[in-house]
Amino acid sequence: MAKIKKILVANRGEISLRIMRTAREMGIATVAVYSEADRLSPHVLFADEAVCLGPPPSAKSYLLGDKIIAVCVELGVDAIHPGYGFLSENADFARKVQEAGLIFIGPSPEAIEVMGSKLAAKQAVAKYDIPLVPGTEEAISDIPVAKTRAAEIGYPILIKASAGGGGKGMRVVENEAEFEEQMQRAVSEAQSSFGDSAVFIEKYISSPRHIEIQVLGDQQGNILYLFERECSIQRRHQKVIEEAPSAVVSPEMRKAMGEAAVGVAKACDYYGAGTVEFIVDGELNFFFLEMNTRLQVEHPVTEMIIGKDLVREQILIAEGKPLSFTQDDLKINGHSLEVRVYAEDPKNNFLPDIGKLETYKRPQGAGIRVDDGFEEGMDIPIYYDPMIAKLITHAEDRQSAIEKMVRAIEDYKIVGIQTTLDFCKFAITHDAFVSGDFDTKFVENYFSPSVLEQEFSESELELLSALAVEFFTKNKPSGLLKSESISNKESAWRNRLQ
Ligand code: ADP
Ligand code: ADP
Ligand code: MG
Repeated sequence: MAKIKKILVANRGEISLRIMRTAREMGIATVAVYSEADRLSPHVLFADEAVCLGPPPSAKSYLLGDKIIAVCVELGVDAIHPGYGFLSENADFARKVQEAGLIFIGPSPEAIEVMGSKLAAKQAVAKYDIPLVPGTEEAISDIPVAKTRAAEIGYPILIKASAGGGGKGMRVVENEAEFEEQMQRAVSEAQSSFGDSAVFIEKYISSPRHIEIQVLGDQQGNILYLFERECSIQRRHQKVIEEAPSAVVSPEMRKAMGEAAVGVAKACDYYGAGTVEFIVDGELNFFFLEMNTRLQVEHPVTEMIIGKDLVREQILIAEGKPLSFTQDDLKINGHSLEVRVYAEDPKNNFLPDIGKLETYKRPQGAGIRVDDGFEEGMDIPIYYDPMIAKLITHAEDRQSAIEKMVRAIEDYKIVGIQTTLDFCKFAITHDAFVSGDFDTKFVENYFSPSVLEQEFSESELELLSALAVEFFTKNKPSGLLKSESISNKESAWRNRLQ
């Protein structure tokens, strides 16, 4: 059995730092890689050793698999952790890592390959009796044939890139008249974004929930499910708020979904940590969507409720150790929420916002975890995913986890960049979220930029009232103020406070 002594993390930002922290706790030396844009990043400063890969664009730095492997050989590294994104779901890279005599902290290259193609994945799980979203079983290219299939499935339908990911490569088609144009766009997008033009059709489930199951398997063939994560609050088909457990999953449904997820993992002889994603309709029927063969962004909410460190488990599995616990040992303890703090402007269609973190103060206290990769004064580079941090709370029940999150968001001070924090506070305090009755259409149904204009935190209100008193004192003789001037002042303060 291999003992890992030195790990290189082929990633950046919060996830790189998060992985290295666990490695250090396990007595394992760490090597960071970085691009010229990340020279002074916390993940670089934290590592025992750090190597510059090249200029900022990912293709010239974080995606240079061969260079990363050469660095490992040179520095006597014995294992590579790929994090998420970048090379994490690249089967060729995983294979080359193994061929170089190194350990890839993740599943086998074959499992990555099968699950990396949404179509191959559906075919692989077919014999395990896993419910699938109705759709085509093969890639479609012939437009008349595709139209016939779409009509059989029934509009609205979704055209999806088989190699897609990160919420990209999907097109909703409402009716037959739009079909041809959307199909052509989908094919060319799939080719340009993923280098694979294969697309397929799925029934578009209206107002579904996205609920996924964390799985963990060892190299001896044991596979367990670590319960669910609810990830229905999304924008652009991408998650922004996650929680565990889900407010709608009963113990019976949890067991059924968990066992289905284990079936998916078995279909590709999975080992390591992985996530099986399901879409859930209004009647709580669940359908397999895809499997992500890596550590997921939102893995902390699972860690909080089961009391385990998933990166530690990944490392132990990569060393060849059998899992040290059974399905029956796993229990859900309390409730956990995660909000993703993106450098994005929710008032402007969630477009990325770049700039400097002029003020950056993290919230603190029991039950609060911040996984981030920036410090005050740093710029958010434009080259990568605009996520600044993940803010996670854990409490004894859902309501307390929400209350803790509201307090944590209010205590999080970020000036210089627009972020998703205010949006997240709006979302988690909305009646639909609080009641648990929400779906992936949450943003579309309830959010508009104006809802944020009315939202004030207590500290903002205190400042506003102080300001109003000062304003009244200075402008005494002029009589009553027009409400307009107050609101102008309010927005001026808001701009300064954000
Ligand atoms: P998760 O799937 O872990 O919940 P995301 O869907 O946001 O989280 O994806 C995690 C990261 O991986 C993001 O940076 C996303 O852009 C990236 N990503 C996921 N799949 C792909 C893909 N097929 N191609 C490129 N980037 C991807
Ligand atoms: P990605 O690889 O980009 O993560 P997924 O297949 O996991 O792609 O889908 C991402 C999101 O898109 C889901 O969480 C869901 O919100 C939406 N989605 C995917 N498939 C469907 C479908 N058949 N019907 C409705 N929404 C869907
Ligand atoms: Mg997905």
